[in-house]
Amino acid sequence: MSLLEHLRGELADRDSRALIRRRRTLDTPCGPHAVVDGREMLSFCSNDYLGLAAHPALAAAIAEGTARWGGGSGASHLVSGHYSVHERLEARLAEFTGCERALVFSTGYMVNMGVAAALVGRGDAIFADRLNHASLVDGALLSRAEHHRYAHGDTEALARLLTNSTARRKLIITDSVFSMDGDIAPLTELLALAEAHDAWLLVDDAHGFGVLGPQGRGALAAAGLAHWRLLVVGTLGKAAGLSGAFVAGHADVVEWLMQTMRTYIFTTGSPPALAHALLTAIDLIEHGDALRARLVALQHQLRGALPLRRWQLMPSSTPIQPIKIGDNAAALGAATALWDTGLWVPAIRPPTVPPRTARLRISLSAAHTTGDITRLTDNLLRIEALQ
Ligand code: PMP
Repeated sequence: MSLLEHLRGELADRDSRALIRRRRTLDTPCGPHAVVDGREMLSFCSNDYLGLAAHPALAAAIAEGTARWGGGSGASHLVSGHYSVHERLEARLAEFTGCERALVFSTGYMVNMGVAAALVGRGDAIFADRLNHASLVDGALLSRAEHHRYAHGDTEALARLLTNSTARRKLIITDSVFSMDGDIAPLTELLALAEAHDAWLLVDDAHGFGVLGPQGRGALAAAGLAHWRLLVVGTLGKAAGLSGAFVAGHADVVEWLMQTMRTYIFTTGSPPALAHALLTAIDLIEHGDALRARLVALQHQLRGALPLRRWQLMPSSTPIQPIKIGDNAAALGAATALWDTGLWVPAIRPPTVPPRTARLRISLSAAHTTGDITRLTDNLLRIEALQ
């Protein structure tokens, strides 16, 4: 069979199992009220938790940054693509997260693809939560270390794995907020286990940075945790409203990452104008207590208005609120019924989530109104009753 025939067969198979993904095209700036495929929609899809993506101060900062720095960086950071504004951003992120040093990347995917391989390799072991983000899974595989996956949030299972391990070096890897579940990892217990077993702890705070903790300093700040054994990854395309990512931690470790991470070394530095605008984004996050309070109020409103009977409101204390439906086609049917009333909520299906746990994934933003939430909850209850 030719490759083309094989791929056609695979696509048809996915189609028959309701697993084909469609891209929708937006014609308005990121925000709850969007024109999508030509239709006015109320969106509950984005990771723009604080509603900063379309904030006028960020648009102005990008324009100002472009006027000052022009377009691209021209090269990778270690050649000639590193600018003073990248230095300023790294210093700001280190101070903001309470770490000694931070290193800025173009995307979080690239941090996660590269960081484990820089720290551990053959003869070492990675211990990973089973629901970690795909980029962490890929990064663990790339490192060639043993890859142990423990049941989601199960610190006892992790303790057993650590106790039985004879690996030379040990690295525990977890999301802080799980992106498809919205729950938070037991970070205090994970750090205690790391200390007890001479392991390091890498926390992907993609969905916590800007949202959780005092001034939005992230999930570790929310849990009151700081330690030289900790490395934190933050993304800048979610609450920060722009694009990019960073890893932060002990200065020597970050220096090692800069020297060795292939996903840092062999890629073009992000535009300095973006770094310029990100400095404004961090200021907005730091002074964004009112936005975070609003987001929490919307979370409470949403959860309080959903006495579901057949579907399951999954436990969440974050702006990510999944509703488990189970069956792929039923989840897709619910998303389609919502879409038909002008509500955009994604159906998340395997392989993104485990088999038989297809779900609607609601993402809230401080830019939503209480009226937006009421419209959503009214329709969710109506559609559940019809299914
Ligand atoms: N980690 C998690 C938990 C994520 O949800 C994402 C984005 N979906 C990433 C990492 C990747 O970040 P980026 O979008 O900056 O590549």
